Amino acid sequence: MSTSPVCPRCGEVLVVRPGSDQAWCHLHAAVTPLHHTPVLDHATISAVTVDARVPAWVPDPMPAGWVVTGLAWGGEPGARGIVVDCAGPAPLGGQAEVVLVAEEPGTGLGAGYAGLPWLDPGELVAGPSAAAVQAAGQRAALWEVPTSDDRAAFVGEAFGVWLWLVTWPASAAWLLAEDLVLVDLRDRVLPTLPLGPPSEHLLPGA
Ligand SMILES: [Zn+2]
Repeated sequence: MSTSPVCPRCGEVLVVRPGSDQAWCHLHAAVTPLHHTPVLDHATISAVTVDARVPAWVPDPMPAGWVVTGLAWGGEPGARGIVVDCAGPAPLGGQAEVVLVAEEPGTGLGAGYAGLPWLDPGELVAGPSAAAVQAAGQRAALWEVPTSDDRAAFVGEAFGVWLWLVTWPASAAWLLAEDLVLVDLRDRVLPTLPLGPPSEHLLPGA
């Protein structure tokens, strides 16, 4: 159900080095391979999330007109990083896109979407926070991350792993104007969860 695995940090298609079964990125060396599926159905979401070691966050309710457009996961079985890609209308016109990332430390997945060269947020998660979400009933503070002009990126921690939220365009951070409520798709995949066609930023580095 997945296409070629890519690097979780830069989106490059991985190779397997001769004499090794290790997934290899020519920039980032040995990495946790990121699998993805742009064509979603509820059964696929359940299959990916059932044994995941990290949450699969999705807004609940979804903002009006928004849909889930793709899913990516690092490591299988037992995903150590999960990306849920959502897209919908922006309030000032045009399309907006949000990726929600949960990952174990040392994966580099969220940083890959934020365009950062390191694996983990480090000192970015310090000082006053910029926003907060309700993640499966827990309040998670988010810190704004420096990134390129075309996007906004935030990171915090929920359920012992990093929680990243990256939006395109940057103004789509309006979603965080009020505490966004997130549910974990491992708990249940509602049959009413709206699904849609693939969007642009399902993979990091795009
Ligand atoms: Zn890479």
